[in-house]
Amino acid sequence: MIVAIDGPAGSGKSTIAREIARRHGFEKLDTGAMYRAVTFAALSRGIDLADEDGVCHLARLVNIVFQPQPGGVTRVFLDGEDVSSQIRTPEVDAGVSKVSAYPDVRVAMLAPQRAVARQHDVVAEGRDIGTVVFPDADVKVFLTADPRERARRRVLQRHEGEQVDLSALEPEIAETLASIERRDALDASRDVAPLVAAADAVRIDSTAYSIEEVVDQISALIEEAQRA
Ligand code: C5P
Repeated sequence: MIVAIDGPAGSGKSTIAREIARRHGFEKLDTGAMYRAVTFAALSRGIDLADEDGVCHLARLVNIVFQPQPGGVTRVFLDGEDVSSQIRTPEVDAGVSKVSAYPDVRVAMLAPQRAVARQHDVVAEGRDIGTVVFPDADVKVFLTADPRERARRRVLQRHEGEQVDLSALEPEIAETLASIERRDALDASRDVAPLVAAADAVRIDSTAYSIEEVVDQISALIEEAQRA
């Protein structure tokens, strides 16, 4: 069984995919983390992100491995080094859409992404899962949410467990919103595998729903597909 969840930045794909994986015993595949790992690898080796040949060459060389941890968290290893937090910095956020738009970078990521589904039931999340990576997925979801709400959730997640007053976070929310919108515009306008809903995807706008409600909706789609 393959469940594809696509959608713009910060729409909750990761959290929801993690919960779906837990509930149904599926493997979770975070394809964004792979593009982030390539971006981090280029930045840390001093490769100019505008150097398409250099970045594509690097994408073919690197070894990216996911290691699920107890509690549902997955750690990301780049050539043996744990880069789970380094791939989530503002520098990587700002550069990843440039890297992911290179066709040869996408080609290099495709085989490892498809390999996961050969051995396991999988819930995969990204931008082109239902359109390119797994066009025959059993369940396809296109998850969206109002951009401001997405920025607000991202910032709250970043400050989880801290005592913070929402009004003090306003500048950070505005900055995150600008970064999300910039990334979505680049991801949606690229020539290869752009961010777009597959024609047969079920669209879910999560703005007004809790994580659990969205997970329930997707679980119902999975159960329906399992019965078919
Ligand atoms: O999902 P996440 O926000 O971590 O993705 C980071 C970036 O990776 C996206 O902004 C996009 O440029 C790229 N990406 C992609 N195709 C995917 C998943 C992510 O191009 N399937």
